[in-house]
Formats: sequence, C-alpha cells, structure tokens
Amino acid sequence: MSAEDDLRVIAAEVRACTKCKLYQGAKNGVPGEGPAKAEIMLIGEGPGFHEDQQGRPFVGAAGKFLEELLGYIGLKREDVYITNVVKHRPPGNRDPEEDELQACLDYLERQIQAINPKVIVTLGRFSMARFFPNAKISGIHGQAKKVNGRLVVAMFHPAAALHQPYYRQPLIEDFKKLPALIASVRQSPASEPEELEHKQLSLF
Ligand code: URA
Repeated sequence: MSAEDDLRVIAAEVRACTKCKLYQGAKNGVPGEGPAKAEIMLIGEGPGFHEDQQGRPFVGAAGKFLEELLGYIGLKREDVYITNVVKHRPPGNRDPEEDELQACLDYLERQIQAINPKVIVTLGRFSMARFFPNAKISGIHGQAKKVNGRLVVAMFHPAAALHQPYYRQPLIEDFKKLPALIASVRQSPASEPEELEHKQLSLF
C-alpha cells in the first residue's frame, strides 16, 4: 500500500472511531490533512469548534495564525501535514484526558510512519508530551531534538499567541528555524544519525 492509501485507511478509521468517549459529543472525526510526502508534520492538540464542524484540522482562528506562521517560511498549509493528538473534539475545548490520548496514539503513530516526515513540529504541551514526557515547553521550544531517529521540535500552540501576545514572537522565530533544519536533514544520509544529531545541536 502507498502512503496515500495508508492515510486514507487511517482517516476512515478515525471518522468511525469509538475507542474513547470523545466521539459521543463530536460531529466529525478530524484525521488530519496534507500531502503524504510532506517533509514537515505539524501536530496540534485536538479539534475545536470549527474543526469539528468541518472535519478538518486548524481551520479556525488558530489555523489562520498557523497559516501566517507558515507564510514566514514561504509555505502554505497544503505543503505540510497537519493533525492533532486527539482526533475528536473534547467537549467545550477542554484538555484531552489520558485515556483519550492513549486511544488516539495508534492513529498518530501510523500517520507518522506513513508520512515519514523529515521534521515533526509539536504545537502545544499535549503534543509535546507525546515525545518529551517530562519537558517544559518554555524550556525546549524551538530546539530540534532526535526522538527515535527523527527530528522533533516543540513549539508553543498558535492559540496561545492569540490569547497572549507574549508567545507570538517566539513562535515566529521558532518557525523561521525550520528551513535550515530541513535542509540539514536533506543533506545528511539517514545512515549517519549520530552526525546529524551533532549538526542539529550546533545549529541552535
Ligand atoms: N487547535 C488544535 O490544537 N488543533 C486544531 O485542529 C485546531 C485548534
């Protein structure tokens, strides 16, 4: 099966998913969207009102800002794969609960495998915690770190910058690091992970 096929299968499973309670109050599952060959995969928290209505990730106010952030590095939302750690909307936009995160984890892992992105960007602390369970986002945001051989960069959630302007500039600066990061991954053969790791550390 191609990566496109894999993503289609996962999307169909997400839309029909009843593995946790979130589907009960949601209108649509929100599997994620973007090219199967995307070099950048963005992982947010969970669908909000507009995402639930449309079945698409980041289509509300946070999504508008995300598009602005991508614009700073010459990208459009169609250039990246966008998804969330939970695929159904938590009621009232509450934080996702641990059993909900666990139920959805398999979808996220299969999406990562299918896409095999050069860089994963986590948006917000719930997404960060999938890769860096004990980290504080204020301590590691914008730093490229290797997790299971893949580069992951934690960033603040775009919605945080809408509520508190303090987060706006750090988010812009962190996004602006992505092109150099991707270029360095393109240059480094996959068989030399150690060298790549050192390069990344010296980049930031
Ligand atoms: N916030 C998220 O974390 N994900 C979305 O899809 C929309 C808003």
